[in-house]
Amino acid sequence: MPERGMLIVLSGPSGVGKGTVRQAMLADDFRDFQYSVSMTTRQMRPGEVDGQDYYFRTKTEFESEIANGGMLEYAKYVDNYYGTPLKYVNQTLDEGRDVLLEIEVKGAMQVREKCPDGVFIFLTPPDLAELKQRLTNRGTDDAATIDKRIKTASEEIAMMENYDYAVVNDKVSLAVDRIEKIIESEHLRVPRV
Ligand code: 5GP
Repeated sequence: MPERGMLIVLSGPSGVGKGTVRQAMLADDFRDFQYSVSMTTRQMRPGEVDGQDYYFRTKTEFESEIANGGMLEYAKYVDNYYGTPLKYVNQTLDEGRDVLLEIEVKGAMQVREKCPDGVFIFLTPPDLAELKQRLTNRGTDDAATIDKRIKTASEEIAMMENYDYAVVNDKVSLAVDRIEKIIESEHLRVPRV
């Protein structure tokens, strides 16, 4: 049986650039780790692919997954469900491979309870004004949704103390470097007996 893989949880406010940082990490190919594709009930955005960006499901389908114990964590975020299917994460960790989750903070806190051995990384925006600008520039959300996301983001930043590491996303390549160093260091830890 291989040594169990490491669970890496990348979290932080929406719009901070988690998705971009995650994609840059996967493209960087710096070590063998797998991205866990989340399930959501939100509308698919242009260019997104079912099964690749998310598993896009109806509310009924999502709720039946919850009822069947199929989710490692889930949260309602801006009126939609988002969650991590449990099976893929468990199987991949059992194979000895690292798994990366990219999720919002409520879900991350559920994972912290269930998997205290995970590595919890909080990605922070340089400041909230910039976050608002980034959400506006993205142009995929209307003003009311942006305000809702900003309010959620302020609350999320207060959650930072529940994480092992805080990484400022001032520049994607720098954030990726910092995260890769964290993962390398975590793999060099001397196990406590
Ligand atoms: P978006 O709608 O912009 O793709 O994602 C909205 C928020 O949901 C982001 O903060 C994203 O990280 C988070 N998210 C994506 N997948 C999951 C998941 O599986 N669980 C939780 N709790 N949050 C997720």
